[in-house]
Amino acid sequence: MTVENRNPWTGEVYRYSMMSPAAIEERLAAAERAFPVWSGLSLEARGACLRKVAAGLRQRKSELAHVVTAEMGKLHKEALAEVEKCAAACDYYADNAARYLREEDIATEARRSYVAYEPIGCVLAIMPWNFPIWQVFRFLAPTLMAGNVAVLKHATNVPRCADAIAAVLREADLPDGVFGVLHMDNEQAAAVIGDPRIKAVTLTGSERAGRSVAATAGRHLKKCVLELGGSDPFVVLEDADLDETVKAAVASRYGNAGQTCIAAKRFILVAGIVERFTERFLAEAGKLLPGDPEARGSNLAPMARADLRDGLHRQVSESLARGARLLLGGKPGEKDTVYPATVLAGVAPGMPAWEEELFGPVASLIRVRDEDEAMEVANATSFGLGASVWTADPARGEAFARRFAAGACFVNAQVRSDVRLPFGGTRNSGFGRELAGHGIHEFTNIKTLYVA
Ligand code: NAP
Repeated sequence: MTVENRNPWTGEVYRYSMMSPAAIEERLAAAERAFPVWSGLSLEARGACLRKVAAGLRQRKSELAHVVTAEMGKLHKEALAEVEKCAAACDYYADNAARYLREEDIATEARRSYVAYEPIGCVLAIMPWNFPIWQVFRFLAPTLMAGNVAVLKHATNVPRCADAIAAVLREADLPDGVFGVLHMDNEQAAAVIGDPRIKAVTLTGSERAGRSVAATAGRHLKKCVLELGGSDPFVVLEDADLDETVKAAVASRYGNAGQTCIAAKRFILVAGIVERFTERFLAEAGKLLPGDPEARGSNLAPMARADLRDGLHRQVSESLARGARLLLGGKPGEKDTVYPATVLAGVAPGMPAWEEELFGPVASLIRVRDEDEAMEVANATSFGLGASVWTADPARGEAFARRFAAGACFVNAQVRSDVRLPFGGTRNSGFGRELAGHGIHEFTNIKTLYVA
Protein backbone atom coordinates (compact mmCIF):
# COMPACT_ATOMS: atom_id res chain seq x y z
CA MET A 1 0.00 0.00 0.00
CA THR A 2 1.29 3.45 -0.91
CA VAL A 3 0.80 6.29 1.55
CA GLU A 4 0.82 9.95 0.59
CA ASN A 5 1.87 12.56 3.16
CA ARG A 6 2.06 16.32 2.78
CA ASN A 7 4.41 18.83 4.34
CA PRO A 8 1.97 20.75 6.57
CA TRP A 9 3.35 24.15 5.53
CA THR A 10 4.61 23.80 1.95
CA GLY A 11 2.17 21.12 0.83
CA GLU A 12 5.01 19.15 -0.74
CA VAL A 13 3.96 15.53 -1.23
CA TYR A 14 5.96 12.57 0.02
CA ARG A 15 4.99 9.00 -0.86
CA TYR A 16 6.17 5.75 0.63
CA SER A 17 5.01 2.16 0.84
CA MET A 18 3.94 0.04 3.75
CA MET A 19 6.12 -3.02 4.20
CA SER A 20 5.26 -6.42 2.78
CA PRO A 21 4.56 -9.32 5.17
CA ALA A 22 7.94 -10.78 4.17
CA ALA A 23 9.78 -7.57 5.09
CA ILE A 24 8.01 -7.44 8.47
CA GLU A 25 8.90 -11.07 9.05
CA GLU A 26 12.54 -10.30 8.31
CA ARG A 27 12.63 -7.50 10.92
CA LEU A 28 10.94 -9.67 13.57
CA ALA A 29 13.38 -12.49 12.90
CA ALA A 30 16.30 -10.05 13.18
CA ALA A 31 14.96 -8.82 16.54
CA GLU A 32 14.64 -12.40 17.75
CA ARG A 33 18.27 -13.10 16.80
CA ALA A 34 19.47 -9.84 18.35
CA PHE A 35 17.92 -10.36 21.77
CA PRO A 36 20.42 -12.89 23.21
CA VAL A 37 23.31 -10.88 21.77
CA TRP A 38 22.13 -7.56 23.18
CA SER A 39 20.90 -8.81 26.54
CA GLY A 40 24.15 -10.75 26.89
CA LEU A 41 26.21 -7.56 26.77
CA SER A 42 27.23 -5.94 30.03
CA LEU A 43 25.41 -2.83 31.18
CA GLU A 44 28.61 -0.88 30.53
CA ALA A 45 28.67 -2.06 26.91
CA ARG A 46 25.01 -1.20 26.38
CA GLY A 47 25.62 2.17 28.03
CA ALA A 48 28.53 2.86 25.68
CA CYS A 49 26.19 2.24 22.72
CA LEU A 50 23.58 4.60 24.16
CA ARG A 51 26.23 7.29 24.62
CA LYS A 52 27.15 6.89 20.96
CA VAL A 53 23.47 7.25 20.07
CA ALA A 54 23.36 10.47 22.11
CA ALA A 55 26.41 11.78 20.28
CA GLY A 56 24.87 10.85 16.92
CA LEU A 57 21.65 12.65 17.79
CA ARG A 58 23.59 15.79 18.69
CA GLN A 59 25.67 15.58 15.56
CA ARG A 60 22.63 15.17 13.31
CA LYS A 61 20.45 17.51 15.34
CA SER A 62 19.77 20.05 12.62
CA GLU A 63 19.10 17.43 9.94
CA LEU A 64 16.71 15.52 12.22
CA ALA A 65 14.92 18.71 13.18
CA HIS A 66 14.31 19.53 9.52
CA VAL A 67 12.80 16.09 8.97
CA VAL A 68 10.48 16.59 11.96
CA THR A 69 9.37 20.00 10.69
CA ALA A 70 8.85 18.73 7.14
CA GLU A 71 6.71 15.84 8.32
CA MET A 72 4.58 17.29 11.11
CA GLY A 73 5.16 21.05 10.98
CA LYS A 74 6.77 21.74 14.37
CA LEU A 75 8.72 25.02 14.69
CA HIS A 76 12.36 24.33 13.85
CA LYS A 77 13.55 25.61 17.24
CA GLU A 78 11.09 23.28 19.00
CA ALA A 79 12.35 20.38 16.90
CA LEU A 80 15.97 21.15 17.83
CA ALA A 81 15.04 21.14 21.53
CA GLU A 82 13.26 17.81 21.06
CA VAL A 83 16.35 16.14 19.61
CA GLU A 84 18.50 17.55 22.45
CA LYS A 85 16.10 16.07 24.98
CA CYS A 86 16.44 12.64 23.36
CA ALA A 87 20.22 12.80 23.53
CA ALA A 88 20.04 13.77 27.21
CA ALA A 89 17.70 10.83 27.90
CA CYS A 90 20.16 8.39 26.30
CA ASP A 91 23.00 9.76 28.43
CA TYR A 92 20.81 9.68 31.52
CA TYR A 93 19.95 6.01 31.15
CA ALA A 94 23.53 5.13 30.25
CA ASP A 95 24.53 6.77 33.56
CA ASN A 96 21.69 5.52 35.74
CA ALA A 97 20.48 2.14 34.46
CA ALA A 98 22.84 0.21 36.73
CA ARG A 99 21.34 1.94 39.77
CA TYR A 100 17.78 1.20 38.63
CA LEU A 101 18.48 -2.40 37.66
CA ARG A 102 20.54 -3.32 40.73
CA GLU A 103 19.37 -6.41 42.60
CA GLU A 104 17.27 -5.50 45.62
CA ASP A 105 17.72 -7.55 48.75
CA ILE A 106 14.59 -8.08 50.84
CA ALA A 107 15.02 -9.56 54.30
CA THR A 108 12.97 -12.72 54.96
CA GLU A 109 13.72 -15.95 56.79
CA ALA A 110 15.62 -17.16 53.68
CA ARG A 111 19.40 -17.26 53.39
CA ARG A 112 18.95 -14.66 50.72
CA SER A 113 15.84 -13.29 49.06
CA TYR A 114 15.96 -10.57 46.45
CA VAL A 115 14.54 -9.09 43.29
CA ALA A 116 16.38 -9.12 39.96
CA TYR A 117 15.25 -7.14 36.92
CA GLU A 118 15.61 -9.18 33.76
CA PRO A 119 14.86 -8.26 30.14
CA ILE A 120 11.85 -9.85 28.47
CA GLY A 121 12.68 -9.77 24.74
CA CYS A 122 11.26 -7.71 21.90
CA VAL A 123 8.85 -4.86 22.70
CA LEU A 124 6.62 -3.31 20.04
CA ALA A 125 6.33 0.48 20.28
CA ILE A 126 3.41 2.24 18.57
CA MET A 127 4.12 5.94 18.57
CA PRO A 128 2.45 9.24 17.61
CA TRP A 129 3.59 12.07 15.37
CA ASN A 130 3.43 15.00 17.81
CA PHE A 131 6.90 14.50 19.31
CA PRO A 132 8.08 12.02 16.70
CA ILE A 133 11.62 11.65 18.02
CA TRP A 134 11.11 12.18 21.76
CA GLN A 135 8.19 9.76 22.16
CA VAL A 136 10.34 7.03 20.66
CA PHE A 137 13.40 7.71 22.82
CA ARG A 138 11.30 8.12 25.95
CA PHE A 139 10.55 4.43 25.59
CA LEU A 140 13.64 3.26 23.75
CA ALA A 141 16.47 4.54 25.99
CA PRO A 142 15.29 2.71 29.14
CA THR A 143 14.13 -0.37 27.31
CA LEU A 144 17.44 -0.86 25.51
CA MET A 145 19.37 -0.36 28.74
CA ALA A 146 17.17 -3.00 30.39
CA GLY A 147 18.42 -5.43 27.74
CA ASN A 148 15.34 -5.60 25.56
CA VAL A 149 15.19 -5.11 21.81
CA ALA A 150 12.46 -3.15 20.05
CA VAL A 151 10.47 -2.68 16.87
CA LEU A 152 8.68 0.55 16.06
CA LYS A 153 5.41 1.21 14.29
CA HIS A 154 5.44 4.97 13.94
CA ALA A 155 2.47 7.17 12.99
CA THR A 156 1.72 7.02 9.28
CA ASN A 157 2.64 10.69 8.73
CA VAL A 158 6.20 10.48 10.13
CA PRO A 159 7.95 7.60 8.30
CA ARG A 160 11.13 9.59 7.65
CA CYS A 161 11.46 10.37 11.37
CA ALA A 162 11.29 6.62 12.04
CA ASP A 163 13.95 5.90 9.41
CA ALA A 164 16.16 8.72 10.70
CA ILE A 165 16.04 7.25 14.23
CA ALA A 166 17.01 3.85 12.81
CA ALA A 167 19.92 5.46 10.95
CA VAL A 168 21.25 7.10 14.14
CA LEU A 169 21.11 3.76 15.97
CA ARG A 170 22.80 1.95 13.08
CA GLU A 171 25.62 4.47 13.05
CA ALA A 172 26.08 3.94 16.79
CA ASP A 173 26.97 0.31 16.01
CA LEU A 174 24.06 -1.32 17.79
CA PRO A 175 23.98 -4.98 16.82
CA ASP A 176 21.78 -5.73 13.85
CA GLY A 177 18.13 -6.22 14.80
CA VAL A 178 18.26 -4.46 18.19
CA PHE A 179 15.97 -1.80 16.75
CA GLY A 180 13.80 -2.16 13.67
CA VAL A 181 11.22 0.04 11.97
CA LEU A 182 8.01 -1.57 10.74
CA HIS A 183 6.17 0.62 8.24
CA MET A 184 2.78 -1.00 8.64
CA ASP A 185 -0.89 -0.19 9.01
CA ASN A 186 -3.03 -0.86 12.05
CA GLU A 187 -4.23 -4.23 10.80
CA GLN A 188 -0.67 -5.42 10.31
CA ALA A 189 0.16 -4.00 13.75
CA ALA A 190 -2.58 -6.14 15.30
CA ALA A 191 -1.01 -9.25 13.75
CA VAL A 192 2.44 -8.24 15.03
CA ILE A 193 1.08 -7.78 18.57
CA GLY A 194 -0.07 -11.41 18.38
CA ASP A 195 3.29 -12.66 17.12
CA PRO A 196 4.94 -14.81 19.80
CA ARG A 197 8.25 -12.98 19.30
CA ILE A 198 6.64 -9.78 20.61
CA LYS A 199 6.59 -9.89 24.41
CA ALA A 200 4.88 -6.58 25.20
CA VAL A 201 3.57 -3.44 23.58
CA THR A 202 3.73 0.24 24.43
CA LEU A 203 1.46 2.79 22.81
CA THR A 204 1.48 6.56 22.96
CA GLY A 205 -1.53 8.00 21.21
CA SER A 206 -5.25 8.60 21.41
CA GLU A 207 -7.78 6.96 23.66
CA ARG A 208 -9.31 5.27 20.61
CA ALA A 209 -5.99 3.68 19.66
CA GLY A 210 -5.41 2.72 23.31
CA ARG A 211 -8.67 0.81 23.54
CA SER A 212 -7.93 -1.05 20.33
CA VAL A 213 -4.30 -1.92 21.10
CA ALA A 214 -5.08 -2.91 24.70
CA ALA A 215 -7.87 -5.21 23.47
CA THR A 216 -5.52 -6.92 21.03
CA ALA A 217 -2.76 -7.18 23.62
CA GLY A 218 -5.27 -8.57 26.11
CA ARG A 219 -6.40 -11.26 23.68
CA HIS A 220 -2.81 -12.40 23.43
CA LEU A 221 -2.11 -11.91 27.16
CA LYS A 222 0.64 -9.40 26.50
CA LYS A 223 1.49 -6.60 28.83
CA CYS A 224 0.93 -3.09 27.53
CA VAL A 225 1.73 0.44 28.64
CA LEU A 226 -0.67 3.11 27.40
CA GLU A 227 0.20 6.82 27.28
CA LEU A 228 -3.00 8.40 25.99
CA GLY A 229 -4.68 11.76 25.68
CA GLY A 230 -5.35 14.40 28.29
CA SER A 231 -7.34 17.52 29.06
CA ASP A 232 -5.06 18.97 31.70
CA PRO A 233 -6.47 21.54 34.10
CA PHE A 234 -4.44 24.68 34.86
CA VAL A 235 -5.90 26.12 38.05
CA VAL A 236 -5.18 29.75 38.90
CA LEU A 237 -5.88 30.73 42.52
CA GLU A 238 -6.53 34.38 43.37
CA ASP A 239 -3.04 34.98 44.83
CA ALA A 240 -1.07 33.68 41.82
CA ASP A 241 1.83 35.71 40.42
CA LEU A 242 0.37 36.68 37.06
CA ASP A 243 3.68 37.33 35.26
CA GLU A 244 4.89 33.77 35.73
CA THR A 245 1.46 32.20 35.48
CA VAL A 246 0.45 33.78 32.18
CA LYS A 247 3.83 33.08 30.64
CA ALA A 248 3.56 29.40 31.54
CA ALA A 249 -0.10 29.23 30.50
CA VAL A 250 0.60 30.53 27.01
CA ALA A 251 3.71 28.39 26.55
CA SER A 252 1.89 25.28 27.72
CA ARG A 253 -1.20 25.77 25.56
CA TYR A 254 0.33 26.99 22.30
CA GLY A 255 3.72 25.26 22.15
CA ASN A 256 3.82 22.62 19.40
CA ALA A 257 0.67 24.30 17.98
CA GLY A 258 -1.23 22.97 20.98
CA GLN A 259 -0.60 19.36 19.96
CA THR A 260 0.84 18.15 23.24
CA CYS A 261 -0.72 15.54 25.50
CA ILE A 262 0.30 17.43 28.66
CA ALA A 263 -0.55 20.89 27.38
CA ALA A 264 -2.76 22.87 29.74
CA LYS A 265 -6.15 22.70 28.03
CA ARG A 266 -8.67 23.93 30.59
CA PHE A 267 -7.79 27.13 32.45
CA ILE A 268 -9.79 27.15 35.67
CA LEU A 269 -9.86 30.63 37.14
CA VAL A 270 -10.99 31.45 40.64
CA ALA A 271 -13.16 34.56 41.14
CA GLY A 272 -10.91 37.51 41.91
CA ILE A 273 -8.38 36.71 39.20
CA VAL A 274 -10.56 35.95 36.16
CA GLU A 275 -10.53 39.40 34.58
CA ARG A 276 -6.84 40.14 35.23
CA PHE A 277 -5.72 36.71 34.00
CA THR A 278 -7.95 36.85 30.92
CA GLU A 279 -6.72 40.27 29.87
CA ARG A 280 -3.04 39.31 30.17
CA PHE A 281 -3.57 35.90 28.57
CA LEU A 282 -5.34 37.43 25.57
CA ALA A 283 -2.60 40.02 25.15
CA GLU A 284 0.09 37.30 25.07
CA ALA A 285 -1.85 34.78 22.98
CA GLY A 286 -2.67 37.56 20.51
CA LYS A 287 1.05 37.93 19.75
CA LEU A 288 1.17 34.40 18.35
CA LEU A 289 0.82 34.31 14.59
CA PRO A 290 0.90 31.14 12.50
CA GLY A 291 3.89 31.15 10.19
CA ASP A 292 6.47 29.10 8.30
CA PRO A 293 7.82 26.66 10.92
CA GLU A 294 11.26 26.82 9.33
CA ALA A 295 11.43 30.62 9.66
CA ARG A 296 13.33 31.98 12.64
CA GLY A 297 10.68 34.50 13.70
CA SER A 298 7.65 32.19 13.61
CA ASN A 299 5.96 31.66 16.95
CA LEU A 300 2.98 29.45 16.12
CA ALA A 301 3.32 26.34 14.00
CA PRO A 302 0.72 24.95 11.59
CA MET A 303 -1.10 21.83 12.69
CA ALA A 304 0.24 18.51 11.50
CA ARG A 305 -2.57 17.60 9.09
CA ALA A 306 -5.59 19.26 7.47
CA ASP A 307 -8.03 16.68 8.89
CA LEU A 308 -6.78 17.46 12.43
CA ARG A 309 -7.28 21.18 11.83
CA ASP A 310 -10.82 20.56 10.55
CA GLY A 311 -11.64 18.34 13.51
CA LEU A 312 -10.44 21.01 15.94
CA HIS A 313 -12.51 23.67 14.21
CA ARG A 314 -15.59 21.44 14.50
CA GLN A 315 -15.00 21.17 18.27
CA VAL A 316 -14.67 24.97 18.53
CA SER A 317 -17.77 25.64 16.40
CA GLU A 318 -19.88 23.20 18.38
CA SER A 319 -18.70 24.68 21.69
CA LEU A 320 -19.68 28.13 20.42
CA ALA A 321 -23.05 26.82 19.27
CA ARG A 322 -23.60 25.50 22.80
CA GLY A 323 -22.91 28.86 24.41
CA ALA A 324 -19.13 29.33 24.70
CA ARG A 325 -17.84 32.85 23.92
CA LEU A 326 -15.06 33.47 21.41
CA LEU A 327 -12.43 35.87 22.79
CA LEU A 328 -9.69 35.31 20.22
CA GLY A 329 -9.11 33.50 16.91
CA GLY A 330 -11.57 30.79 15.93
CA LYS A 331 -11.30 31.40 12.17
CA PRO A 332 -9.39 28.75 10.18
CA GLY A 333 -6.48 30.09 8.13
CA GLU A 334 -6.37 29.97 4.33
CA LYS A 335 -3.79 27.20 4.43
CA ASP A 336 -5.68 24.04 5.36
CA THR A 337 -3.38 23.22 8.29
CA VAL A 338 -3.41 26.66 9.89
CA TYR A 339 -5.43 27.48 12.96
CA PRO A 340 -4.96 30.71 14.89
CA ALA A 341 -4.34 31.03 18.62
CA THR A 342 -7.89 30.75 19.92
CA VAL A 343 -9.45 31.49 23.31
CA LEU A 344 -12.92 30.36 24.42
CA ALA A 345 -14.62 31.63 27.58
CA GLY A 346 -17.69 30.38 29.41
CA VAL A 347 -16.81 26.75 28.67
CA ALA A 348 -19.36 24.48 30.38
CA PRO A 349 -20.43 20.81 30.60
CA GLY A 350 -21.84 19.39 27.37
CA MET A 351 -19.46 21.37 25.15
CA PRO A 352 -16.65 19.57 23.29
CA ALA A 353 -14.22 22.07 24.88
CA TRP A 354 -15.25 20.69 28.29
CA GLU A 355 -15.80 17.02 27.50
CA GLU A 356 -13.09 16.25 24.94
CA GLU A 357 -9.40 16.79 24.36
CA LEU A 358 -8.73 19.86 22.16
CA PHE A 359 -5.51 18.85 20.42
CA GLY A 360 -4.60 22.21 18.90
CA PRO A 361 -4.10 25.89 19.75
CA VAL A 362 -7.36 26.50 21.62
CA ALA A 363 -7.59 27.54 25.28
CA SER A 364 -10.77 27.01 27.29
CA LEU A 365 -11.36 29.48 30.13
CA ILE A 366 -13.64 28.39 32.97
CA ARG A 367 -14.68 30.67 35.84
CA VAL A 368 -15.23 29.10 39.27
CA ARG A 369 -16.32 30.48 42.66
CA ASP A 370 -13.56 29.16 44.87
CA GLU A 371 -10.90 26.53 45.46
CA ASP A 372 -13.39 23.73 46.06
CA GLU A 373 -15.23 24.35 42.84
CA ALA A 374 -11.87 24.63 41.06
CA MET A 375 -10.98 21.11 42.21
CA GLU A 376 -14.39 19.77 41.24
CA VAL A 377 -13.99 21.16 37.70
CA ALA A 378 -10.35 20.09 37.44
CA ASN A 379 -11.34 16.48 38.10
CA ALA A 380 -14.56 16.62 36.04
CA THR A 381 -12.93 14.94 33.06
CA SER A 382 -12.49 11.36 31.96
CA PHE A 383 -8.76 11.99 31.54
CA GLY A 384 -6.06 12.04 34.22
CA LEU A 385 -2.71 12.88 32.69
CA GLY A 386 -1.26 16.12 34.10
CA ALA A 387 -2.53 19.04 36.19
CA SER A 388 -1.10 22.25 37.60
CA VAL A 389 -2.06 24.83 40.19
CA TRP A 390 -0.73 28.37 40.53
CA THR A 391 -0.60 30.25 43.84
CA ALA A 392 1.72 32.49 45.85
CA ASP A 393 1.64 29.91 48.64
CA PRO A 394 3.50 26.68 47.71
CA ALA A 395 2.13 24.81 50.76
CA ARG A 396 -1.42 25.66 49.75
CA GLY A 397 -0.58 24.61 46.19
CA GLU A 398 0.87 21.31 47.33
CA ALA A 399 -2.17 20.47 49.44
CA PHE A 400 -4.37 21.32 46.46
CA ALA A 401 -2.25 19.28 44.03
CA ARG A 402 -2.60 16.16 46.18
CA ARG A 403 -6.32 16.17 45.35
CA PHE A 404 -5.87 16.15 41.56
CA ALA A 405 -6.92 12.86 39.94
CA ALA A 406 -3.96 12.85 37.56
CA GLY A 407 -0.57 11.22 37.05
CA ALA A 408 1.66 14.31 37.02
CA CYS A 409 0.72 17.18 39.33
CA PHE A 410 2.74 20.39 39.35
CA VAL A 411 2.66 23.46 41.61
CA ASN A 412 3.74 26.77 40.07
CA ALA A 413 5.40 24.97 37.17
CA GLN A 414 4.33 23.86 33.74
CA VAL A 415 3.59 20.14 33.49
CA ARG A 416 6.44 18.55 31.55
CA SER A 417 8.20 15.24 31.19
CA ASP A 418 11.54 14.92 32.94
CA VAL A 419 13.67 11.82 32.51
CA ARG A 420 14.29 11.73 36.29
CA LEU A 421 10.57 11.57 37.15
CA PRO A 422 7.98 8.92 36.27
CA PHE A 423 5.50 9.95 33.58
CA GLY A 424 2.05 8.57 32.85
CA GLY A 425 -1.65 8.92 33.42
CA THR A 426 -4.66 7.59 35.26
CA ARG A 427 -8.23 6.94 34.09
CA ASN A 428 -8.65 7.34 30.30
CA SER A 429 -5.15 8.77 29.97
CA GLY A 430 -3.83 5.24 30.23
CA PHE A 431 -1.75 3.15 32.57
CA GLY A 432 1.84 2.24 33.25
CA ARG A 433 4.74 4.65 33.55
CA GLU A 434 7.63 5.80 31.42
CA LEU A 435 10.93 7.41 32.47
CA ALA A 436 12.83 7.28 35.78
CA GLY A 437 13.10 3.88 37.52
CA HIS A 438 9.42 3.11 37.08
CA GLY A 439 9.78 3.33 33.30
CA ILE A 440 12.79 1.05 33.01
CA HIS A 441 11.07 -1.57 35.20
CA GLU A 442 7.89 -1.72 33.07
CA PHE A 443 9.37 -4.09 30.54
CA THR A 444 11.39 -6.31 32.80
CA ASN A 445 10.68 -9.58 34.52
CA ILE A 446 10.69 -8.48 38.15
CA LYS A 447 12.11 -11.77 39.27
CA THR A 448 11.92 -12.95 42.86
CA LEU A 449 14.78 -15.17 44.02
CA TYR A 450 14.47 -17.07 47.27
CA VAL A 451 17.41 -19.10 48.53
CA ALA A 452 16.42 -21.07 51.64
P1 NAP B 1 -3.38 8.14 17.22
O1 NAP B 1 -4.17 8.44 16.03
O2 NAP B 1 -3.97 7.35 18.29
O3 NAP B 1 -2.03 7.46 16.72
C1 NAP B 1 -0.97 7.08 17.60
C2 NAP B 1 -0.31 5.87 17.05
O4 NAP B 1 -1.20 4.77 17.19
C3 NAP B 1 0.02 5.94 15.56
O5 NAP B 1 1.19 5.22 15.32
C4 NAP B 1 -1.16 5.24 14.93
O6 NAP B 1 -0.89 4.73 13.67
C5 NAP B 1 -1.39 4.14 15.93
N1 NAP B 1 -2.71 3.56 15.92
C6 NAP B 1 -3.90 4.19 15.88
N2 NAP B 1 -4.91 3.28 15.94
C7 NAP B 1 -4.32 2.07 16.02
C8 NAP B 1 -4.84 0.74 16.09
N3 NAP B 1 -6.12 0.49 16.09
N4 NAP B 1 -3.95 -0.28 16.16
C9 NAP B 1 -2.61 -0.04 16.16
N5 NAP B 1 -2.08 1.19 16.09
C10 NAP B 1 -2.93 2.24 16.03
O7 NAP B 1 -2.88 9.47 17.94
P2 NAP B 1 -2.17 10.71 17.29
O8 NAP B 1 -3.19 11.51 16.61
O9 NAP B 1 -0.98 10.25 16.49
O10 NAP B 1 -1.64 11.44 18.60
C11 NAP B 1 -2.40 12.30 19.34
C12 NAP B 1 -2.92 11.67 20.60
O11 NAP B 1 -1.84 11.11 21.33
C13 NAP B 1 -3.54 12.69 21.53
O12 NAP B 1 -4.68 12.15 22.12
C14 NAP B 1 -2.45 12.93 22.55
O13 NAP B 1 -2.89 13.45 23.77
C15 NAP B 1 -1.87 11.56 22.68
N6 NAP B 1 -0.52 11.62 23.24
C16 NAP B 1 -0.32 11.13 24.49
C17 NAP B 1 0.94 11.23 25.07
C18 NAP B 1 1.22 10.73 26.45
O14 NAP B 1 2.38 10.65 26.81
N7 NAP B 1 0.23 10.39 27.24
C19 NAP B 1 1.98 11.80 24.33
C20 NAP B 1 1.74 12.28 23.06
C21 NAP B 1 0.47 12.17 22.52
P3 NAP B 1 -1.46 5.44 12.34
O15 NAP B 1 -0.84 6.79 12.26
O16 NAP B 1 -1.01 4.52 11.27
O17 NAP B 1 -2.95 5.47 12.50
